[in-house]
Amino acid sequence: MSDIRVRFAPSPTGHLHIGTARTALLNWLYARKTQGSFIVRIEDTDRSRSTIEFEESILEDLAWMGLNWDEGPDNGGPYGPYRQSERLGLYQHKVDELLHSGQAYRCYCTPKELEERRKTRLATGLMPKYEGTCRNLTAEQESECAAQGRKPAIRFRVPDEKIIVRDLVRGEIEFSSDVIGDFIILRSDGTPSFHLAVVVDDGEMKITHVIRGEDHITNTAKHVPLIKALGYPVPKFAHNAMILGPDGGKLSKRHGATAVGDYRAKGYLPESINNYLALLSWAPEDTREVFELDELAKMFKIERISKSPAIFDIGKLNWLNGQHIRSADLQRLTNLCIPYLKEAGLIPQGGVSKSEFEYLLKVVEAVRGNLTVLSEIPAYATIFLGEYEIRPDALEWLRKPHVPEVLTALLELLRRHGELDFDGGREVVNALRDKFKPLGVTGKDLFMPIRVGLTGAVKGPELPYVLNILDKEQAIRRIEAAIQAAIQAAG
Ligand code: GLU
Repeated sequence: MSDIRVRFAPSPTGHLHIGTARTALLNWLYARKTQGSFIVRIEDTDRSRSTIEFEESILEDLAWMGLNWDEGPDNGGPYGPYRQSERLGLYQHKVDELLHSGQAYRCYCTPKELEERRKTRLATGLMPKYEGTCRNLTAEQESECAAQGRKPAIRFRVPDEKIIVRDLVRGEIEFSSDVIGDFIILRSDGTPSFHLAVVVDDGEMKITHVIRGEDHITNTAKHVPLIKALGYPVPKFAHNAMILGPDGGKLSKRHGATAVGDYRAKGYLPESINNYLALLSWAPEDTREVFELDELAKMFKIERISKSPAIFDIGKLNWLNGQHIRSADLQRLTNLCIPYLKEAGLIPQGGVSKSEFEYLLKVVEAVRGNLTVLSEIPAYATIFLGEYEIRPDALEWLRKPHVPEVLTALLELLRRHGELDFDGGREVVNALRDKFKPLGVTGKDLFMPIRVGLTGAVKGPELPYVLNILDKEQAIRRIEAAIQAAIQAAG
C-alpha cells in the first residue's frame, strides 16, 4: 500500500446524491490507482439533520456501487472513530490549543447582533463578513460579557496574509484574507463547525489528497490557514466541477431522480452509474466509452478531471446501461431481474426453483438486448411468462389467407422435433423459409404470423430464441390456438 490517503466524507442528512456519489467515485478511483487507502468518514456534527438511517443508506449505496472502503465507521481502522459525533473531545482539545496560542478567541456576539451587522454591511454595499468585534477583548470585557449571560463561540483568527489554494485541477487560486473574516470553529453550544471538524479529521487521519466538489473552494480558502495553524501538513486539493441539469441549473429533483438509490430501484447497474459518472468527470484518452470499474481505476488521472461543469444526460446513461446489460454475467442479471418479474406478477412470490431459474436464464438472455433499464423486463418477458394472448395489433397479421397453412406447417415441424435449442429453432425457421419461398410467401408475410403465433405479439427476440425458450408442448398449444384465431379472423 502507498501512503496516499483519500476520504469520502458524506453528511448523513439525506440519501446518496448522484453528485456526491461522483465525488466518492473519484476518490475511490484515485486510491485504487495509486494503491492508496480510501476512507469513509461520516460528518454528522449537524445533529438535528443527521440520522443513522441516512448513514446506513449512504453506505449501502456505496457498497452497491462497488466502492469498498479500507477504513470507515463500520469496519474501523487506525484513525477512528470515523463518525464526527464520536470525536467531539478531540475537537475541543484542538480548540483549547488554538485559544492558548492566541490563534483563536472567544466571540460573545449574539446571533441577533451578527445578523444586524450583516444587514448593515449589505445595505452599504459591503461583503458580509465578521468584522472582528471580539478580536481583541480584554479580560475585563470578557468577564463583563460572561456576566451578561452571553455564551461565547470560538473564532479562528485568520492571519492577515494572502491565502493560496493549490489545486491539482485548477492550478493556484489566490484569496485575500480580507474577504474571509474570522470564522467560527466551535459554536456556543460546544459543537465544532464543519470547518474545524474537517480540518482536524483530515489532519489526524493523515489525508494526503482532498478531492471534493467545487462548491467547497471557498471553504478550502478557510481551511488552508487553519490547517497551518494546527500544524498539519497541507494536503493536495482537487475540486471537481458540478453536475448541472439540462437547463444549466444545479442538478436537483426537478430534473428527475437525483438519489443513487432511485437509479438502483429503476434497474440501472452499478457499473453503468460508475461508467457514466466517470465520463462526466473526465474524457478518457481511449476512444471507447464503455468501461468496467477496474479499467476506470487504471485509466484515472486526477489532472484530467474536468474544470467545467458537466450536464447530466440521461440519454447517455441509458445507452451505457443498455451496453452493460448486454455484457453482464447472465446469472447475475437474471437474479437482478427476478424482483421486477415478481412485482409484475409474472413469477410467483417466494423462491425460484432450479428449473424455473433455468427457464428465466433463457428468457433474460433473449430479451436483454431490448432493455434500457432492468425494470422494463416485464414488458418483454410477458410473452414467455404471462398468459398467452394475441394482442389486437398482432391479430392483423393472422388475417391473410396463407396464414393457417404456414402455422400448420410449423405445427407439424414442432411435433416431429424434440425440445428445441437455439440451433434447432433456427433449423425450423429455415425449413419454413425453404418451403414457402417457392409459393411467394417470404419476409414479414412469413415471419410475422410465426412470431404472432408463438408469442401473441409483434415484437420480441429473434425467432430461434423464442423457439428455444418455449417448451415444445407450450409452443404447440399456442400455435393450435393461433390457427383457430387465424381462421376466425380471416372469416
Ligand atoms: N461533509 C461534506 C459534504 O457532505 C464534505 C466535506 C468535504 O469533503 O470536505 O459536503
